[in-house]
Amino acid sequence: MPNHPTSPPIVAIATATGRGGVGVVRASGSFAAIDALAQAICGRTLTPRHAHYGAFLDEHHQPIDHGLALYFNAPHSYTGEHVLELQGHGGPVVMQLLLRRCLSVGAAHGMRLAAAGEFTERAFLNDKIDLAQAEAIADLIEASTEAAAKSAVRSLSGEFSSRIHTLVDKVVHLRMLVEATLDFPEEEIDFLQKADAFGQLDRIQAELAGVLSTAKQGALLRDGVNVVLVGQPNVGKSSLLNALSGQDVAIVTPIAGTTRDTVTQSVQIDGVPLNIIDTAGLRDTDDVVEKIGIERTWAAVEKADVVLHLIDATQAEQERLGDTSLLKALDEKIPSGAPRLTLINKSDLLEQSAVNDDSRMYISAKTGEGLDPLRARLLFIVGFEKTASDVFIARERHLTALRHADEHIQTAYAHALTQDQKLDLFAEELRLAQEQLNQITGAFTSDDLLGVIFSSFCIGK
Ligand code: GDP
Ligand code: ZN
Repeated sequence: MPNHPTSPPIVAIATATGRGGVGVVRASGSFAAIDALAQAICGRTLTPRHAHYGAFLDEHHQPIDHGLALYFNAPHSYTGEHVLELQGHGGPVVMQLLLRRCLSVGAAHGMRLAAAGEFTERAFLNDKIDLAQAEAIADLIEASTEAAAKSAVRSLSGEFSSRIHTLVDKVVHLRMLVEATLDFPEEEIDFLQKADAFGQLDRIQAELAGVLSTAKQGALLRDGVNVVLVGQPNVGKSSLLNALSGQDVAIVTPIAGTTRDTVTQSVQIDGVPLNIIDTAGLRDTDDVVEKIGIERTWAAVEKADVVLHLIDATQAEQERLGDTSLLKALDEKIPSGAPRLTLINKSDLLEQSAVNDDSRMYISAKTGEGLDPLRARLLFIVGFEKTASDVFIARERHLTALRHADEHIQTAYAHALTQDQKLDLFAEELRLAQEQLNQITGAFTSDDLLGVIFSSFCIGK
């Protein structure tokens, strides 16, 4: 049965706004509230998990629409409460009429519009899914590439959670041993040896490192990578954006200073979403509009994960670098740790072929020469190495928790290694590591965190 019998019944349009063949209004709540809807709108009490075809009635018993009604009894439903789904025709007016009808019938039971993510939040509160799975539902809906969607399904089916549970079990096992020993101080001395504590710690650390590396890949798939193109006017930034995206999204002209605003295009390489950002050419200018464009370039550079600095292969070496004060400014804006790669563009105009090295690559945005090696290098730079089929989706929040857990395990190790083996501190660090891991699945969370997570969902989910 639901853990929160006092929460009011909720209702929302569950399908996307706009027109579609089918639209769904979904309600969740107590049996009394849901049965009242069924009786008033479908004219009878519904059998659980049966599709009932018929009219959806208004307050004058006139049909609003004809469609399928599905009733799921608690706890065998998405939310774990009693749920009614009315599948009508997917027009905005029909959906609004059905929604209003539900609200007016349900008013007697306190029914209200669902907040963003509230159905999923109830599923979490009623133990239908854990927090990592709830997040995976939002990530599946938001997924921008096929690989991101597949990895979200993997998290949703519990692969990520089960790796976390395994880790927690191992930490708890060791913690129990340490705490039991604390009660018998005379045995502390050879406890660590007997229990193979170091072996256990080693295995926990190895497992943590494995989960962290997969989660990092999952976070890449979810969040994408910001790749910012910078360089002087006319070096071919807009041409490169178009070549990488396979469409003409940025204006290409031989007139310097054409791109005055940043243009962003999402492309994918092996399923990793990249946001490629074309910027205004960097040069000293008095043109007011162009100055604003350059300001926006700096703003984009500050949020870059990777900076691609384009130069023109046909320019002489000194010319290529351009304005030294702008170059210095560029260096200062690039976030620390964001890799930067120099691309020598227009290689098609060079007489002899040139050789790439770690920091420079030759490309031609015009002929496409060198673009495949560039794509491969980008994946390497952002650290994507897994084949997408091994990855479960993850968020920055999960990475932080995993890193903190690892720090606590390391500190635990340090306590165990000291001469007088501080077992109480050792146990405490294990407890803190466990707490961090539990935050991922939501076994240990604050209401604030739940609010942040579920409010980012769409309404009706
Ligand atoms: P941006 O100002 O850096 O965005 O440069 P554009 O992409 O607008 O390109 C400026 C000019 O260089 C245009 O006339 C392009 O056709 C030309 N161009 C860009 N890339 C190449 C290239 O790889 N080879 C050659 N030959 N011309 C290029
Ligand atoms: Zn441009």
